[in-house]
Amino acid sequence: MKDVIIVGAGFAGSTLANLFANINKKVLVIDKRNHIGGNMYEETRDNGVRVHKYGPHIFHTNDKEVFEYLQKFTSFYFYEHRVIGYIDGEYVPIPFNFKSLELLFPSDKVKLIKEKLLKTYGEQKKVSILDLLNDSDDVIREFGKYVYEKVFVHYTAKQWNVPISEVDSSVINRVPVILGYDDRYFQDTYQAMPKNGYNEIFENMLDNKNIEVKLDTNAKDLLRIDTDNKKIYYDNKEFKGIVIYSGPLDELLEYQYGPLPYRSLDLVFEDRDENYYQPSSVVNYTVSEKFTRITEFKYLSNQVVKDNTTILKEYPLTYDYKNKEHVPYYAIFNDTNLALYKKYYDSVKDIDNFYLCGRLAEYKYYNMDAVVRRALDLFKEIEGVK
Ligand SMILES: Cc1cc2nc3c(=O)[nH]c(=O)nc-3n(C[C@H](O)[C@H](O)[C@H](O)COP(=O)(O)OP(=O)(O)OC[C@H]3O[C@@H](n4cnc5c(N)ncnc54)[C@H](O)[C@@H]3O)c2cc1C
Repeated sequence: MKDVIIVGAGFAGSTLANLFANINKKVLVIDKRNHIGGNMYEETRDNGVRVHKYGPHIFHTNDKEVFEYLQKFTSFYFYEHRVIGYIDGEYVPIPFNFKSLELLFPSDKVKLIKEKLLKTYGEQKKVSILDLLNDSDDVIREFGKYVYEKVFVHYTAKQWNVPISEVDSSVINRVPVILGYDDRYFQDTYQAMPKNGYNEIFENMLDNKNIEVKLDTNAKDLLRIDTDNKKIYYDNKEFKGIVIYSGPLDELLEYQYGPLPYRSLDLVFEDRDENYYQPSSVVNYTVSEKFTRITEFKYLSNQVVKDNTTILKEYPLTYDYKNKEHVPYYAIFNDTNLALYKKYYDSVKDIDNFYLCGRLAEYKYYNMDAVVRRALDLFKEIEGVK
């Protein structure tokens, strides 16, 4: 008899499985895919290059406890992520910084814009593009409009398939403008990649005599949530242990209020007979092309694979829950969708032994560190640990 059933073997599910197993609880982890690791899963191409099957994942955090916790399962190598944007025939740093400014503007303009920005916001500051657009100074506003157009407008339209005005400001604010030459994509204290890839983390998290993993198993075939009587059934018998669900909540509840909207991606991998394809791990196509970005994985995996490389083009598309090829990648935040999610949430929130954790179950954008933090906190909450 199990004490805990966990649906999903991504970071949410695997972290919680590991924590419960360590206090001697018997844990069952179910995943519908044929592998553990959720969206961080990596596979090796025929040419030997290790790729992230569900899109590139770069680890970065300011959360020391999360970073230390993950180091129990793998060793990391120092890696600071740099992204380049292809704008008007130039490769320029993204987030837009002073180097990008110098590459795209004439030198007299550069001097004036820099002076004004530094005077208003201060050196090394990360400024929201929305603040620049609303600035009272004409020069700053003009500069803001340029960056908005070249970095945000088309890219956001490709990514979300709506005009930028309809995209939540939290999404736009993920990419600031940097008033300096720091060309790192993230400014977090800890930036690193797992030396042997992400899979090792999950293998080690789940390698415990108290954990059983069932792959190729859809929770819907085994779990039933009786929302009226606030009971959970596993394999047709009432289950009184703890159930943690990290899959999509609408799917589990039979889409009774309609599907929750997501953006999905068509991920197109290309193996190439050349040493390197592009000057950086990620190039964002912010003004041209149908794909949003190209990732070259050798830069991320730190592998030496001579005369061979693999790239990935990401084509955003509308998620269709009936299409088995589609993966729900990005929740679309707006009042309507959050209200719809709340209906699902309200119908399970009073079930004492049922917990939601993860980007799908909570209909939230969590970075990897944030979802591990959420799992650590949820464990403490359930176990009453201070
Ligand atoms: C394209 C993309 C790029 C990203 N890049 C980064 C990045 O660079 N850095 C970063 O920090 N974060 C990144 N993220 C976020 C990162 O993917 C999430 O933080 C992480 O996946 C959250 O883990 P999770 O366990 O909640 O979800 P997942 O990893 O999605 O795991 C959920 C698991 O549940 C399983 N499941 C779902 N439904 C069922 C069911 N009915 N039955 C059984 N199993 C089920 C799924 O198969 C899956 O394995 C990125 C996200 C995307 C979409």
